[in-house]
Amino acid sequence: MASESEHTVLVTGGAGYIGAHTAKALRERGHNPVVFDNLSSGYRDAVRWGDFIHGDIRDTEAVAEALARTQARHIIHFAGLIEVGRSVSRPDLFWAHNVTGLASVLQAAAKAQVQRVVFSSSAAVYGQAAAGFELDLLSEDNPKAPASPYGDTKLAGEKMIAAYASAFGFSAVALRYFNAAGADPSGLIGEAHQPETHLIPLAIAAALGHGKPLTVFGTDFPTPDGTCLRDYVHVDDLAAAHVAAVELPLAPSAFEAFNIGAGHGASVFEVLAAIEAACGRAPPHSLGARRAGDPASLVADPARANRRLGWTPRCSDLDHIIRTAVAWHKAPAYGATSPQPAGILS
Ligand code: UDP
Repeated sequence: MASESEHTVLVTGGAGYIGAHTAKALRERGHNPVVFDNLSSGYRDAVRWGDFIHGDIRDTEAVAEALARTQARHIIHFAGLIEVGRSVSRPDLFWAHNVTGLASVLQAAAKAQVQRVVFSSSAAVYGQAAAGFELDLLSEDNPKAPASPYGDTKLAGEKMIAAYASAFGFSAVALRYFNAAGADPSGLIGEAHQPETHLIPLAIAAALGHGKPLTVFGTDFPTPDGTCLRDYVHVDDLAAAHVAAVELPLAPSAFEAFNIGAGHGASVFEVLAAIEAACGRAPPHSLGARRAGDPASLVADPARANRRLGWTPRCSDLDHIIRTAVAWHKAPAYGATSPQPAGILS
């Protein structure tokens, strides 16, 4: 039986990248994570720190049953779709999973008298910075203007959670992730998206000869080296933020949102240089056009998370992120695609 300060936490999407790292962090803090996942993009082998329930968030009965069976009074909701580009071509799927799916979880949560819901949100809620403010740090009060259906669904999700919390008496926290990256040093869990669209895994695959050469999306941005600046935050730091969000004292019906980023940016070229240093080989790449919807700079001001959650990034320096990511991609515990020598793919 868990004591007052040890929580049973239903982790939807806990077989995915950030969810698996969070389950490990919860367990290491003495909590009891229970992963609820339909394995559409997650991996059973990533579930190592807690029980597993196979289920779909859109099935409210299944979520209600999982809450009843586990007596979980806390939910961390990761399950959802994440590829920004696909959200443009298939907004129907993104609204169904990220918004209707969330409503299903919240209905079950309200009935089960859940006390706390923590939600995976995203820096994508901010969208493009106003002209002239491209290089400023983003605080939570910045205007919200998502530049993709993905960002729209995350902003809608935050509003839905705030309204449900207010009406049904649970408290809620939204964590707006910047660029999640790296892997747990244990080597047991890491990033394995299918298909992969993110810079760091694609560039590492190129450097290791597992993937096609990288295209750098734009070299004419108003940044010091012309490539985009992003705030890469180690996935173990992100996981720690979720544990802090579960433990944060909050009044019933309260809702708070926090930026979770390292607070400093790295350019695409800086990422490629760090990968070259870690792999001993530069990622083969070409210089291409900008990708639609990419802002020049997305860098967090994490001061509020520091003040309210007591959270500071501890392992988000770029070299550590890259070293742990390279170690994972050299020997992934699951999710490996068959090596494809550079040059074969179109
Ligand atoms: N990027 C790139 N080539 C790629 C993938 C990404 O140049 O094949 C750039 C992208 O334009 C952005 C940065 O790398 O500036 C991070 O992109 P990613 O897709 O990893 O995350 P996002 O910032 O879009 O969430």
